Amino acid sequence: MIKRIDHIGVAVKDLNKAISLYRDVLGFELLEIEEVESQGVRVAKFDINGVHIEFLEPTSQDSPIYKYIEKKGEGLHHIAYFTDDIDGELDRLKENGIQLINQQPVEGSSNTRIAFIHPKSSIVLTELVSKGE
Ligand code: ZN
Repeated sequence: MIKRIDHIGVAVKDLNKAISLYRDVLGFELLEIEEVESQGVRVAKFDINGVHIEFLEPTSQDSPIYKYIEKKGEGLHHIAYFTDDIDGELDRLKENGIQLINQQPVEGSSNTRIAFIHPKSSIVLTELVSKGE
C-alpha cells in the first residue's frame, strides 16, 4: 500500500548552486549529500516537515539524470511514494499492465529499495520506495 510522498526529485546540473539557493537563501535544512552509484548521481537531501526534496546531479554521462537534463533541461524529475510492500506493489502494477523501468527493486540511497514506474504509464516519472532489509 502507498503510504505517503517520500520525496520529490529535481534534476540539476550544479548541485552546489542548488544548495546555495535552498540552504543559504531559502533556509531549508540540508540533511545530507550522498552519492548513489547505482543511479549515477550525487544527491543533496533537504527536509521540509517530513517530505524530502532531493536535488540530483549526474556524476557521469551514462547517468539517467544526465540524459534527462540533455533532453528536457533542469527541473522536476520524479515523485517518490513510500510503500511498506514494494514487491507487492510491483506485482500489482505488472498485473495491471503498467510499464515499469525496474522490474525488481534496486538499491536506493539511505538503505532503501526503490523501483521506477515508466512515465508512459504514470504521466510523471514515479518512484516507489521502501525500507531496505
Ligand atoms: Zn528518488
